[in-house]
Amino acid sequence: MSQKSFARLRRLSCERCGTHSTHEVWEVVDAVDRPDLVKRIITGRIRLVNCPGCGTDASVSALLMVLRPQRWPRPMVIPVHRIPVVMGQEAYSLLLAGLQALFNHYGLRDAGVPFDPDNLLIVPLKLLPLAFDRDIGADLEAESRNGLRPLTPLEHHYAEWLGELNTQAWRTHAIALLSALFECESTDALRRLIEENSQLLEERMDDLVSSVMEVLREERPELLPLVANRRLLLRQVRRYGIERVFRTEAER
Ligand SMILES: [Zn+2]
Repeated sequence: MSQKSFARLRRLSCERCGTHSTHEVWEVVDAVDRPDLVKRIITGRIRLVNCPGCGTDASVSALLMVLRPQRWPRPMVIPVHRIPVVMGQEAYSLLLAGLQALFNHYGLRDAGVPFDPDNLLIVPLKLLPLAFDRDIGADLEAESRNGLRPLTPLEHHYAEWLGELNTQAWRTHAIALLSALFECESTDALRRLIEENSQLLEERMDDLVSSVMEVLREERPELLPLVANRRLLLRQVRRYGIERVFRTEAER
């Protein structure tokens, strides 16, 4: 089996005593290959370097890719320093480009690790010790059902982070649904879309439509009547049920 853990040597100077020293900074860690590095991950020490002059620990900022072949997201989790919980599109694209470069640099594709943006997750560094060994997919599911019972402060941060991820995923899906709703050209198509996607009838969807309308009011006011009309339809379905609303529509 080819090696899949890689470090870069970095020369650092201590902020406290000024001593220069060289350290291995891990950029790719294969969890199966390197139990010693896994231990540093779960004790929160993977990004700490120790000054040989004064013994102070310092934190190094660098991309870290953790390959977890047994877990989702498979194969990796990517924690970086100071990353916002929800990244903007531009920041995310830049990060992906950086990861792709790291991938190519270490020849991971040849080592059998595909680069798949849909199968990677960006984890804040402080959550890594906890998130590392979790089934994050199952935890996201539990969070959405209010099924997580966080006990420690770190678990609370973890649960909050999962909540943000769930909200973000919901929003992406909701916006796609709304686009489909606005594009429906027949009553039948509308009815089918609503029947197949009960999320359209959630309260928070109504809030999202309101924000969409605010943006349109400035940028595309000509679309407002259509959007307002579809919002009214959703409200009526929520209130009276799909049968009754569409029967009335058909009678018109
Ligand atoms: Zn020092």
